[in-house]
Amino acid sequence: MAMIFCRECGYKHSDKAKACPKCGYSAEATLSSKVNKLTNGKSMVVYLLLAWFLGIFGGHKFYVGKNGQAIAMLLMGTIGWLLILPGIAVCIWALVDFIVGICNIPTPEKVLAK
Ligand SMILES: [Zn+2]
Repeated sequence: MAMIFCRECGYKHSDKAKACPKCGYSAEATLSSKVNKLTNGKSMVVYLLLAWFLGIFGGHKFYVGKNGQAIAMLLMGTIGWLLILPGIAVCIWALVDFIVGICNIPTPEKVLAK
């Protein structure tokens, strides 16, 4: 049985314990709750799916509450196609958001590094 130090309060306890007996801090629970969450508590998976399928209509922007950008994308993705260029631009915009989103998925390593 190995002894580990609590990341929160520094109390030394068994690594078999799910949570720190002193402060109740659980590395596992904290980790799983942080992974797959955007900073505002939205699901990263939903965000990416919306960016991929409804990106040109601003679906993912509406999801995270960026309504200004969402409406801009919606206009570009609909009537923007009449002018062709805004339609193409919003496709690129949505694709960039998707790629940036994938790059920002919080991995266990990143979460623990904080
Ligand atoms: Zn503790």
